[in-house]
Amino acid sequence: MNKREMIDGPVGRQGLRQIILAQPRGFCAGVVRAVEIVERALQKYGAPVYVRHEIVHNKHVVDSLKAKGARFVEELSEIPDNAVTIFSAHGVARRIEEEASKRDLHVLNATCPLVTKVHNQGKRYVEKGRTLILIGHAGHPEVEGTMGQISAPVVLVQTEQEVDKLDIPTNTPVAYVTQTTLSVDDTKGIIAALQRRFTDIVGPETRDICYATQNRQTAVRELSELVDVILVVGAKNSSNSNRLREIGSETGVPSYLIADSSEFNSEWVRDARVVGITAGASAPEVLVDGVIDALGRLGPVEVSTLSGRQETIEFRLPAELAAV
Ligand code: SF4
Repeated sequence: MNKREMIDGPVGRQGLRQIILAQPRGFCAGVVRAVEIVERALQKYGAPVYVRHEIVHNKHVVDSLKAKGARFVEELSEIPDNAVTIFSAHGVARRIEEEASKRDLHVLNATCPLVTKVHNQGKRYVEKGRTLILIGHAGHPEVEGTMGQISAPVVLVQTEQEVDKLDIPTNTPVAYVTQTTLSVDDTKGIIAALQRRFTDIVGPETRDICYATQNRQTAVRELSELVDVILVVGAKNSSNSNRLREIGSETGVPSYLIADSSEFNSEWVRDARVVGITAGASAPEVLVDGVIDALGRLGPVEVSTLSGRQETIEFRLPAELAAV
């Protein structure tokens, strides 16, 4: 009996719609740390504290922090002198750090340590005289931050086709780093193309880029073998949430990205006996609960969770907030 038959049996007999939750899903350690930095800063220094860019790409998270006294801005010029200023989990360019320091802003850096690790890898490659190639999506704040952390020009590559068009001699010493919200699976085609294109190329061990991105993508693939429809809870501007939906669709299962239950369309699940739900790394679990409730209003449901991978990674808070 395959996994799907094991599910079909009880569903058919009991007339229940089955909901299977991916494991892991939702908040990663970098998001937990970033949100906690804002909450603890509010506790320690009082409102308002200023956050440059959405702390993580999720409106519900941002709105709940706004209600507690956080103010979200896009530019440092919007922040008054001496104010507590938090950089988002995506990281910032060096010029932003320098401007904040010139203005004596009290900075708390919520850049995910895995993003900082990519910055440091890139800097080391450039110090060794290599031309740096960043695999990522143009315009994403993490990509802008990483490019802005490196003192030399960085070449952005988004697709395998772009590798062929690079105007760099084949024997140039190059190195690559990648955006953290791309998984090993996402980047391996581009890395292989780069390795074919350049004779002297190095890069980090891609398994180390971001455990959370890889784990959530592996889980959605597992989910796709068992379900008729996949609902991905996450924001439209969340890179990793979009990728989860794309992976679901690539496996042939209709997959929909929804910010929360208000965007759920019951037509999507009309003929679905088994519905899979996952959530992007910046989507809180309460939003998943809301989608389960919405499904429950259509008829009886039975909820189970894939055994998946348990995550135990935690990132340390900045020292000044550790004891708050
Ligand atoms: S998805 Fe990965 S890199 Fe991004 S915040 Fe989470 S742990 Fe950090």
